Amino acid sequence: MKLKAYHLIILATFFVIAIYACSLSVAYAEKSFSYKFYVDDNGHTNVTVFFYDTGNGSSWILIPKSQRDCVSITAYRGDILNVSYQKLIEEGEENPFYVVMKFKYETRDVVNLSISYSMSYGSLIIEPDAIFISPRVTHEETGFTKTITFLPGYAITNKRDVSSFSGFIKDVEVTKRDDHVVVEVSISSDDRVVIEYSVPFHCNMADVTIGSFTFKTPSRYLDFAYDILKTLNESYAIYKDVFGTELKNVEIQFFVPSMRDLITGLEGYVPFEAGKLGAIYLNVLYIRGVEGFMDVIALHELAHHFLWAIGVPPSRLWIHEGVAEYLSLTIGRSLGYAKAVDMHEGGLVSVWKELDDNLGFVQKWTPFYTPPQGLRYCYAASYYIFKTLCDEYGELSYLKRLFKLFKGIDWSNDTQIVEVFGLAANNVTGIFALFHKWGFEFKEPLQMTLLISRVKRDVLSMPIWLEPYRSFAGIAIWIAELLQQYNVPCGTALMIKASELVYNVSPYLLLVSLVIVVMAIILSRRV
Ligand SMILES: [Zn+2]
Repeated sequence: MKLKAYHLIILATFFVIAIYACSLSVAYAEKSFSYKFYVDDNGHTNVTVFFYDTGNGSSWILIPKSQRDCVSITAYRGDILNVSYQKLIEEGEENPFYVVMKFKYETRDVVNLSISYSMSYGSLIIEPDAIFISPRVTHEETGFTKTITFLPGYAITNKRDVSSFSGFIKDVEVTKRDDHVVVEVSISSDDRVVIEYSVPFHCNMADVTIGSFTFKTPSRYLDFAYDILKTLNESYAIYKDVFGTELKNVEIQFFVPSMRDLITGLEGYVPFEAGKLGAIYLNVLYIRGVEGFMDVIALHELAHHFLWAIGVPPSRLWIHEGVAEYLSLTIGRSLGYAKAVDMHEGGLVSVWKELDDNLGFVQKWTPFYTPPQGLRYCYAASYYIFKTLCDEYGELSYLKRLFKLFKGIDWSNDTQIVEVFGLAANNVTGIFALFHKWGFEFKEPLQMTLLISRVKRDVLSMPIWLEPYRSFAGIAIWIAELLQQYNVPCGTALMIKASELVYNVSPYLLLVSLVIVVMAIILSRRV
């Protein structure tokens, strides 16, 4: 009896567990998604998403916005009841690239669907380099998603070249199957497959020259090259005016980014080799970006060429990058690329807010040394310096005055550099104090040598008929020079201001003096 009761208890327990397990399997019947990418010789990619479920229901995936009207859905088992699209809102903003595709279905047993769309530039190819970057693999289910990518049979790659944006991947297999190199990999949720590969031949590059610019590009990207050349030529007159110089034969090329470039966010660069600047290189990935994004990058790189032309050494990287960011965003906005500019600027603004006016670290930034704060902070701080000064002192006209004054300055002397920033603002002591507040350090005290010599030059150019004010201005600047030698900065600044004031108002002073003299003569005759 005891034994029977024991058996009954075991049987009952087993029964309860079995029912519980059954109910669990019903409640957690997983929907499953898997992705197939089929890449052709030019990088064009057909995407097929396979979906499976064990009952009636609904689900969603992200679809590129541009493909919304071209998606094809095939039901192998079950029926699609309806499909609808919704904006994808992320961090309070509508995503410019993707929409949410929702679908409802019913079935007597299981649902088996495929959802297909295409992507013009899934792989980016400049022979012999190529990289496949999948669309976002984002759907209702979290956890790992199986993907399979078919590259052309001549592609050369291996497991080490397979990755994802997040870096979380598993079950990587690279095999040769029929006429394809097949890459299987599982990636984490809301991620992208990345496969670096090479192709064993070189491409035919097309050269297109418009104005001072020559674009070397594989013909598959020729339309994008024309767009960028158009932007550069439209902006050239503004650059020429601001920098007061011209450029000859600037070469531009696209490059295929490596996985490392994707991680660091490298958008473009200009190599500095053997004492001269090389071509402008633009990350070809951004042909997939919003309208104008690549143009803003090209405008940034163009500024480096102009800065080099007027003698700003790359070792003063905060000036190079600050000017390049400011000009590319300002001119990009004037060309109507508001969305692209907002995306570029948004990243800089969020970083500079964290800096809380501590910007002095960029002073040590060179091509060979990045301050411990990191590159993002260096770019943001440099941009903020130029944005602040240009907003306050006349935007592009401030830069124009500044670049004129750059001629002949000692680039190893920080004090002299900042003095020039002050001269262009007509506020040397104020600008020097501002850089101090930002945390810039100066080995030399503010000498105001450049300012004194400029005011002296102005005073000497005054015509003789402005006497005695010409002499007053001369005496004031002479006292300023004397005080500077005795290291009395406040007195020096005061006397420079006095001399400048007399210089600026002397014609009016002379007029008032003449009126007074004439009035005095008339009055004295009447008496
Ligand atoms: Zn740059």
